[in-house]
Amino acid sequence: MRVLVLGGTTEASALAKLLAADPRFDATLSLAGRTRDPRPQPLAMRVGGFGGVEGLVRWLGDEKVAAVIDATHPYAARMSANAVAACARVVVPLGSIVRPPWRQHEDDSWRIVPTAEAAAAALGKTPLRVFLSLGRQDLHAFAGAPQHRYIARTIEAPDETASPPSIRVLQMRGPFDRDSEARLLSDEAIDIVVSKNSGGDATYAKIEAARELEIPVVMIARPDKPAGHALASAEQAIAWLHGRDPGSPRGV
Ligand code: NAP
Repeated sequence: MRVLVLGGTTEASALAKLLAADPRFDATLSLAGRTRDPRPQPLAMRVGGFGGVEGLVRWLGDEKVAAVIDATHPYAARMSANAVAACARVVVPLGSIVRPPWRQHEDDSWRIVPTAEAAAAALGKTPLRVFLSLGRQDLHAFAGAPQHRYIARTIEAPDETASPPSIRVLQMRGPFDRDSEARLLSDEAIDIVVSKNSGGDATYAKIEAARELEIPVVMIARPDKPAGHALASAEQAIAWLHGRDPGSPRGV
């Protein structure tokens, strides 16, 4: 069964492992190409955009794809919208791994804002030491609030010309643990954290560390992200794919 996995997440890597180990599937993992040196994967990979809905429709047809799993990040809304539109056009089933958001704990001090630009505005006029944990694509939003000193953690080096003037970049890849996150926030005398509500375990430690140190968090809300059949995990995705396979005893 030809399967396309839209990836770039922990769940996509977990699914890639399960698919590679199951001879009933012939799967390709697709990455946007944002990371120059992605982790090696046990599946065939393709890298780069498809060229919008039209390009994805063409790709699904050319590759005779029988099912798509959208395992993109909760903030990758455009890719998901394209997947919903393209799968509907070519009548290919689409399953979407939906990672639950983090819930605000009673000791958390969150201010929820709709965009990275709104997060920059929410920091206010008084200069602060800000920890940005959002990925390099959103750093440009903080160039409009140059009064603050930023520590940004990204996987890849950001474009310096689009970043705020006073920024130090820590190039690191998660997962991170609570003690090291608490140490980082204390050592850097961080006043406020800006985060996406990514959900999952890999990057939650900074939220716990901020809670422990009573540091407020500006939380950028999730975008509306269209989805196909909702799946909770890579394991559920495999079970759902088996159900789509006409050759499987559980097939429909
Ligand atoms: P996006 O805004 O939804 O997508 C923008 C365009 O990038 C899409 O229209 C598509 O181009 C291409 N694209 C995105 N994901 C792709 C994939 N898996 N395979 C092939 N093309 C893809 O996405 P984004 O927020 O830039 O995220 C890009 C990638 O990074 C995603 O794979 C996502 O899972 C991962 N990621 C994102 C975040 C985040 O905070 N946004 C965090 C961690 C990981 P075409 O229209 O040309 O097909």
